[in-house]
Amino acid sequence: MGCGSALLQAPIEGRERAICRACRRVHYENPAPAAAVAILDGPQVLLVRRAIQPYRGQWGLPAGYQEVDETCENAAVREVREETGLIVRLTGLLDVLTTPDDPRKASILVVYSGEAVDGELEPGSDVDEVAWYSLNELPRELAFHNNRLLLERLRKGEVRRW
Ligand SMILES: [Zn+2]
Repeated sequence: MGCGSALLQAPIEGRERAICRACRRVHYENPAPAAAVAILDGPQVLLVRRAIQPYRGQWGLPAGYQEVDETCENAAVREVREETGLIVRLTGLLDVLTTPDDPRKASILVVYSGEAVDGELEPGSDVDEVAWYSLNELPRELAFHNNRLLLERLRKGEVRRW
């Protein structure tokens, strides 16, 4: 947090940034880390329908922002529990994607694979439905470009190459 004085725009490290007139603190804007989990059961993937904006009513992987005092893995497991009622064990790292189409803020989405080890499937916070979908018959309304990208890669069995 800043000292509360007015900000001005100034070129710093190659781009315009907001800087405090009084204490000269620079307000860097960086993407927020978020975690998602692809829970796969054969050709099926577990998706949640969003009950909040943005993309309310559209489907996506269980996901959410990482809290400041937790690891990205813990955020992934927590979000799945909160949104689906399932306890997951993470089994791998699938991808790291940017999210330019979230109007709240830019984010980095870390996508894990996981398997359910406990819990009862039930829509929880921020979602109103949880369902298994075949990767070959995904819902038309998918939230976030990076979810579409990732699900398409999973459907094709592609591993990302850099
Ligand atoms: Zn200041």
